[in-house]
Amino acid sequence: MEPHELLPQLPKVDRLLTRADMVPLVERFGRWQVRHWIRQALDECRSGLRNPAQESAGVTPSDWVVERIRQLAEQECRSTMQEVVNATGVILHTNLGRAPLADRAIRRMVSAAASTNLELDLTSGKRGQRGARVQRLLCELTGAEASLVVNNCAAATLLVLHVIACQREVVISRGQLIEIGGKFRLPEVFQSAGAILREVGTTNRTYVHDYRHAIGEQTAAVMRVHHSNFAQLGFTTEPTIAELASGLQLPPSVPLIDDVGSGLVHRLPHLLPGEPVVQDSIAAGADLVLFSGDKLFGGPQAGLIVGRAGWVDRLARHPWMRTMRVDKLTLAALEATLELHLSAALDDIPVFRMLTRSSQELQQRAHSLHETLLRAFTAAVGGSDRCTPQADRGQITVVPVTSEVGGGAAPAVSLPSHAVALRVQHPERVTRSLRCGQPPILARCEHDRVLLDVRTVEDAQIDAVARRVASCLVATT
Ligand SMILES: *Cc1c(COP(=O)(O)O)cnc(C)c1O
Repeated sequence: MEPHELLPQLPKVDRLLTRADMVPLVERFGRWQVRHWIRQALDECRSGLRNPAQESAGVTPSDWVVERIRQLAEQECRSTMQEVVNATGVILHTNLGRAPLADRAIRRMVSAAASTNLELDLTSGKRGQRGARVQRLLCELTGAEASLVVNNCAAATLLVLHVIACQREVVISRGQLIEIGGKFRLPEVFQSAGAILREVGTTNRTYVHDYRHAIGEQTAAVMRVHHSNFAQLGFTTEPTIAELASGLQLPPSVPLIDDVGSGLVHRLPHLLPGEPVVQDSIAAGADLVLFSGDKLFGGPQAGLIVGRAGWVDRLARHPWMRTMRVDKLTLAALEATLELHLSAALDDIPVFRMLTRSSQELQQRAHSLHETLLRAFTAAVGGSDRCTPQADRGQITVVPVTSEVGGGAAPAVSLPSHAVALRVQHPERVTRSLRCGQPPILARCEHDRVLLDVRTVEDAQIDAVARRVASCLVATT
C-alpha cells in the first residue's frame, strides 16, 4: 500500500481534540498547544506509517498518534519549572537555582505578588522609597552605613567599577583575577565597565607594599576579590581586607572594595574556615562590600552592596541603577530572609539548616529513608518473588559520603554526610528515571551506585522520595 492510501485512516485534528483523553491536556496546556501537538504527531505518523515493525505490532495510526501526543505533553511538563528534590548533597546547586528559600520568604513573595506597597508609604499615603526596609535591615545586619540591592553580584561588580572607576585604575592582586563561570571573567568585566585593571603582585603572592607602589594619581579604587570557587595551597600569601585597610591608609576619595561573593553573614569558622564574613569586612574598614543574595546568605538571586553612605549614594543615583534594580518579589524574599538572619532563626533558613546538620542527625535521617524505602519497595513488588537480584533489599544500604557547599563557595570544604546507596546494574538509567518522574529527584551516580545524600533532603520529603525510588527500582530492574 502507498502512504496516501493509508491517510484516510488517520483521525482528523478536531476529532482528536475532543477525545476524552485529550481533555486534561487541553485544560493544562490550552487548545492551541494540544492542536499543535496533534498536527506534529499526525505529520510524524504520515512519515512513519510504513514502519513495518509498528504495523506488524498491530499499532493503529490512531493509537500511535494518541501515544505520541501523550509523550509530547510529558516532555513539555518536564520542561516547566517545578519543584525538584535535591538528593545530590550539593547545598547551593547552581542548576537547581542555588539557595532554596525559607518558608517565610516564599510566603512573603506570594503575598507581594498581588498589588503591594512597593513604593508607597502607607502612613502618609505618599510615594515611598522602593526597598527602603530591606536597605535598613541590611545595614542593621552588616553594620554598614548604607546599602543597595541589584540583580546579582555580577551586576553589583559592574555597577561599582563603572561608577567609581570609569577610565581610571583599580588596583587588584594577580591572584584574584577570577572566572566565576557563565562568562563572568573579572578582566572582561573591568573592560565592559570601562575601568582600567592595575594588576599587582604575582599569582601566588601579593603583599601590601605591592598595592602601595601601584597607587597613584590614576587610582580610583583598590579591590579585593574572594577566590570563591578555587583554593590555593602551598607558597601563597595575600593581605586580608584588614591589612589592606590599615596598611594602605587610603584617602577618602579612593574606596577599598571587597567582593566577597558568597555572602556569609554569620561566623562559622569550624564549618567554613576561610569564608569571609560580610560584617568582618565592614568592621575591618572596607568602604564597599559586594555579595550574592542566593549563595550562603540563603535568599533570592540578588547583588547586595553595603558600605559607606557617600559611595552607596553615588551608585544609587547613577542611571545604570534603573537597569539593575530588583522587582517586588525579590525584595519580599530578601526582607523575610533578613528578618530570619536578624532574629538568628538560622534553622529556618534552608541553606543554614543543611550546612549545620550534625553527622548523627544525617545518619538518622539516612536510616529513616532506608527503612521507609525498604517498606515501599516491598509494597511495590507486592511481597512476591519478582524481586530481582539488582534491586533486592541487600543492595539498598546506608553509606557515609561527603557533601559539598557548591555554588562556587568554599571549594575546599567537604562536609561528612550519609546517603542511601542503591547498587544497581544501570545507575544512569535509574538516575534518569528518578529525574523524569513526579516529583523529579536529583541523585548522584558513583560507579555502580546511585547515592541519595540526605543532607539536602528535607524530612517532609522522605516519604515521597522513598515511594518514587521504590517504583523506579521496580521499573528499571
Ligand atoms: C558568585 C560570585 C560573583 C557573582 O555573583 P552572582 O550573584 O552569581 O552574579 C561575583 N564575585 C564573587 C567573588 C563571587 O563569588
